[in-house]
Amino acid sequence: PIRLQQADDAPATRAAVAFAPPDEARSISCVIPCFNEGPNLRRLLPLLEDILWATRLRWEIIVVDDGSTDDTVAVAEAWCELSGFRCISLSRNFGKEAALTAGLAAATGDAVVLLDGDLQHSPELIHTMIAQWVAGAEVVYAVREQRSDESRFKQLGSRLFYSLVNASDRFAVPRDAGDFRLMDRKVVDALMSLPERSRFMKGLYAWVGFRAVALPYTPAPRAEGASSFNTRRLVGLAIDGLTAFTTWPLRVVSVVGLMLAVPAFAYGAFVAVDYLLFGNSVSGWTTIVASLMFFIGIQMISTGIVGEYIARIYEEVKGRPLYVVRRERGTGLETGRT
Ligand code: UDP
Ligand code: MG
Repeated sequence: PIRLQQADDAPATRAAVAFAPPDEARSISCVIPCFNEGPNLRRLLPLLEDILWATRLRWEIIVVDDGSTDDTVAVAEAWCELSGFRCISLSRNFGKEAALTAGLAAATGDAVVLLDGDLQHSPELIHTMIAQWVAGAEVVYAVREQRSDESRFKQLGSRLFYSLVNASDRFAVPRDAGDFRLMDRKVVDALMSLPERSRFMKGLYAWVGFRAVALPYTPAPRAEGASSFNTRRLVGLAIDGLTAFTTWPLRVVSVVGLMLAVPAFAYGAFVAVDYLLFGNSVSGWTTIVASLMFFIGIQMISTGIVGEYIARIYEEVKGRPLYVVRRERGTGLETGRT
């Protein structure tokens, strides 16, 4: 049972969802970024195909192989014998965000569903997503009901990240919402028109806006294999997200600098006057060394923060493509085979 949660500004009501007739003229693309998901794809693709037939929409399934070293490409390309299935192999591992972008660029449907290849994103939810879309939602995103499967450390880190990234802005990146979502063609076109190279997708989804409906769901445990997002990668992703969607850390650096410089100057003046007029010479090695280390530390952190932003500018200026395609297989939308 899936509970529907309507965003305040969404026009749809539950009744409208229930009575909206399926529209055969509409088409839908499913994009699956895959890094070593061979065994999972074997289970997911037939499942997904059944679900898409049942929607009575025209559909295509696009598997984006992100430089897998297992049989992911072989599995996906075997399915490409059937109409509706497509496989895009990237020339190496470019990361999930790049793989998603490659899939979005290739998708031709009136709506695009993004889902993971590891069966954590249950394809059954696609029915509900489509119903919401037919009823007028432009984005339908799945929200994790609970994260109790994650370590305390990871939950804390994610809380910290969202409060930092949403500290000041006109749009908020929703917590607990991932890449599992349906997006209308308008939204996909808006996403694809964003020129940046550092693609923090969760932020970009929020940035483009549109009427969004949240669907609570509980992710299934990963079917086979292990998650490729370890702590190091997650921290990297968080820094990408922060630098792409905030500039306040730069301001904090200036303010901290100012707050330290003003009292330091005043104290320096006091010490000089004290010595010249009253002959009190400066004492206290320990204090000097400790404060020196403290201020050098702050300085290095500040330089690091500025450096992170400069690194992003450098990435953008180089203007390299986000991914390189090795080859594509399969035809477009399914053509009504029986
Ligand atoms: N993935 C990808 N490229 C990568 C890492 C992951 O395309 O470099 C895909 C992966 O195959 C899966 C999805 O992204 O379909 C989510 O990855 P994973 O399950 O490892 O992450 P988690 O579920 O822990 O967030
Ligand atoms: Mg997963």
